[in-house]
Amino acid sequence: MSPTLTQNGSFSIPGVSIASERSRTEKTHFVSQNLKTYGYSGKIDKIREQEYPQLKDQVYLDHAGATTYASSQIQRFTKDLTSNLYGNPHSQNPSSKLSSTRVERVRNRILKYFEVSGNDYTVIFTQNATAAIKLAGEMFPWSKEQKSRFLYLREAHTSLVGLRASASASGAVCKPISQEGLEEMFQSPSTQGNEDGILEEPVYNLLAYPAQCNFSGSRFPLEWTRTAYTHLNTEKENWKILLDASSYLTSSQLSLHNTQESPDFVSLSFYKLFGFPTGLGALLVKSELAPLLTKTYFGGGTVSGVTYDHDWQVFRGSLSGKYEDGTINFLDIIALDHALDVAEELYGDVYHITQHTNALITYMYKQMTSLKHWNGAPVCAIFSNGEHYGDPSKQGPIINFNLKRANGDWVGYTEIERLATASSIHVRTGGFCNPGAMQRWLNLSSEEVQENLSAGHVCWDDKDIIGGKPTGSIRISLGAMSTFEDVIVWINFLKEFFVNDIEPNNYSNSKDGYDLIESLSETTLDSVCVYPIKSCHGFHVPTNVAWPITPSGLKYDHEWMLVNNDDGSAMSMKRITKMALIRASIEEEAGYLVVTAPNKPSLRIPLAEDSHDFAYSRSNVFGELLEVQHYKSQSINEWFSTFLEIPCHLARQLTIRRSLGSHLTDNAITPNSVPSALNGSKQASLSLQNESPYLLISQVSVDDVNDRISQSEINQEKKSVPVFTDAYRGNIVIRGRNPYEEDQWEVIKIGTQVFKILGSCRRCNMLCVNPETGRKTKEPYVTLAKYRRIEGKILFGRHMYHCPELSQAPFVLRENDPVKGYRHLDDL
Ligand SMILES: *Cc1c(COP(=O)(O)O)cnc(C)c1O
Repeated sequence: MSPTLTQNGSFSIPGVSIASERSRTEKTHFVSQNLKTYGYSGKIDKIREQEYPQLKDQVYLDHAGATTYASSQIQRFTKDLTSNLYGNPHSQNPSSKLSSTRVERVRNRILKYFEVSGNDYTVIFTQNATAAIKLAGEMFPWSKEQKSRFLYLREAHTSLVGLRASASASGAVCKPISQEGLEEMFQSPSTQGNEDGILEEPVYNLLAYPAQCNFSGSRFPLEWTRTAYTHLNTEKENWKILLDASSYLTSSQLSLHNTQESPDFVSLSFYKLFGFPTGLGALLVKSELAPLLTKTYFGGGTVSGVTYDHDWQVFRGSLSGKYEDGTINFLDIIALDHALDVAEELYGDVYHITQHTNALITYMYKQMTSLKHWNGAPVCAIFSNGEHYGDPSKQGPIINFNLKRANGDWVGYTEIERLATASSIHVRTGGFCNPGAMQRWLNLSSEEVQENLSAGHVCWDDKDIIGGKPTGSIRISLGAMSTFEDVIVWINFLKEFFVNDIEPNNYSNSKDGYDLIESLSETTLDSVCVYPIKSCHGFHVPTNVAWPITPSGLKYDHEWMLVNNDDGSAMSMKRITKMALIRASIEEEAGYLVVTAPNKPSLRIPLAEDSHDFAYSRSNVFGELLEVQHYKSQSINEWFSTFLEIPCHLARQLTIRRSLGSHLTDNAITPNSVPSALNGSKQASLSLQNESPYLLISQVSVDDVNDRISQSEINQEKKSVPVFTDAYRGNIVIRGRNPYEEDQWEVIKIGTQVFKILGSCRRCNMLCVNPETGRKTKEPYVTLAKYRRIEGKILFGRHMYHCPELSQAPFVLRENDPVKGYRHLDDL
């Protein structure tokens, strides 16, 4: 396959673009090395472009969570629905019969997919794999009085682990078992056998295991089924096997052809195979089990005859007829027909998918294990048997891992997920509903898991490291339509963000690191910016206007806010990006706050308080209760509500209270150590969520970020646009001489005014709201994350406060004032 060059010379690939020469060479090399296995005889790029438009510019690495669907399968399904009339299958009218016919056809196709006939197996449709497992537990002929045993492999999904609750309620003894334990049991079954010699009926036991671990991708021997039958089964004891094939089937074929060796129950979810339909799974049951299986609940069409008052009901004869309570998901079952067609047309035999994904995951594994920091320390700790990559009978296309820093510390998975998300890479993090595999690979005892819960960690939260140990991990997984480009973008992402290949020069690690740099740096004040309304755009103070400084910030800065009418909370641009399009400025002499927005007449609000009707309240302002004046004017409030399309009103804080904390990085600064100048009034406590009074930004540092953005390799946006200085929302923008010299300052003098630095500003993805368009972009967040990230915190700009005792009155700032930065207060 030959790469196509577009007009501007960049490499054009459906899905994502890889820009560098090196990546192109790697692809050519990879493809030539894997001609027989990768890419469905050269068709993959075309398949990807035509059938998966939803993957364009996305790197989707969560096929083990759910793979995605081909557009043909959706188109054919909708065409089918609009050209045929399908009714509820439990009836005899033509539309009903049509549904029944189609459903039976799909049932047969599924049997064929597993290479069995309807005499050997029955397909029972369920809502998902979990419901299939639950049903297997319900129908299983457990012997009472703790005679039956339920064993589940340690690496079982929670859906399988949960079967222990219903099995033990039915009187079974339940236990997890490791691979080694199971193999030992196969060797010496007698020690595990049923000792009770006077039993008349055989006891049924259930052994359940996943064909593939959804956490690590490890595959477990399918031969276990045969071994269990031959080694464990006696006249008195009868072991049945439940194989959870949900994860395995995403990339591999399962043949049940030889019924002597195939499991009694197989559970699956169809979205793991085809991406669509969701909400549909199946339990395949060996038909010969029918006479043994029990039924408790019944409902819908599963009865042939029933009376309402006597405990009399006769179930339908077939297993599916008997166990599919209620109306089956007949339309989605019809969707499966198209899913099967399209998968066959695109990929042919499932074997090709196995080969394709195996080639990719093997390459990915090699690349990830070869990543090293500058000191030779490995970057990735991978949680699977490494030697099995390359052998699809032992390892599926999944890599589960955590990352380490050069000093050996773990990187929290939320940090990785956040940066991946900003780069349009979709990964999965956490514990993957697989407690056994997680505890095994993360080396967590059950006590530790319980302690972590008490320490506040719950599934899906971001407490990713407790006591120096990860509480979860990251999983990437491939599917039929994954490409080499997906893999290379992922590897480049790890290289760019997580590999330290040069010894860091400690720009903020220790103060001593700055010794080489001169203690005084001179530059000028580029602009003074005031943001009258929180989270909205502000204005630049005009040249030659001297703007007053107050202890709580520039005059009028952050004095107003918008309050959501529904819950009374202060509104933030983080959630409502359109707020960035509202511009507020002050016409001090005329006495107005002037607000504008695209396609709106401007709003002029008198500054004088007596010209308004207010309601007063204590309101929740970013987590803190403050005294607030709420504007009652309908015209003002409607202006904001209609523009933002959210019912809200304008409010003004009587005393602005500044807060320090989450945005700051210097641990030495706590609310208690903040000088009194910040505390405008006695009760002015500092909340920990807002900003400091002054945020300093250096223009040369902004320029440096823009240079890096334009050079970025994984910049997937067509052309990199420079990020406006305004996006950083600084109040004081200095010209600067060297990028980031401001990181080293402790004190700064602007004109005759002295400010002390509180610490660096910790950036969140609010940085990504473009102040011109109100839309979210990746930059500058992604680029900053590559080289301005310390322990997961992305730093840019400096927080500071004014020191009136060291400054000369009048306390004002003016554009072009001379600026001097000092490394130590003593140098002043
Ligand atoms: C996904 C999965 C399940 C659960 O599937 P649902 O569709 O959520 O019911 C069970 N076991 C394994 C191994 C899985 O991968």
